Amino acid sequence: MAGSPNKEKARRAATHPERPGQNCRAEPGRFRPVVARNRCEGKHDCVDVCPYGVFEVRRMEDSEFAQLTAFEKFRSIVHGRKTSYAPKAEACQACGLCVVACPEKAIALVEFKAAAGSSA
Ligand code: SF4
Repeated sequence: MAGSPNKEKARRAATHPERPGQNCRAEPGRFRPVVARNRCEGKHDCVDVCPYGVFEVRRMEDSEFAQLTAFEKFRSIVHGRKTSYAPKAEACQACGLCVVACPEKAIALVEFKAAAGSSA
């Protein structure tokens, strides 16, 4: 579920030396966070640091769970099958906080090139 940013976690992420250098000024929607389903353990750090409420943590969809390896399924079950989704990805401004805050290195920022007229 979404929540307010955790100031201490956000401060730590903001000074992380590997934070992507987009300077938090990308036009909203130009970049989107992509969560690697086989790495995310739903630990909530992305929710805690995102200034724009992009993420929520919830139960992994069955169709995605089915694509995991046996070991990844086991690990997911150990973590309650929780994983992070980005229902408000269009609000992302590519600040990079989630990328460096994620303890599983499960988040990447990807430039989103919508086709003209696409509503995706
Ligand atoms: S990069 Fe985007 S999704 Fe990640 S914390 Fe910054 S605004 Fe939120």
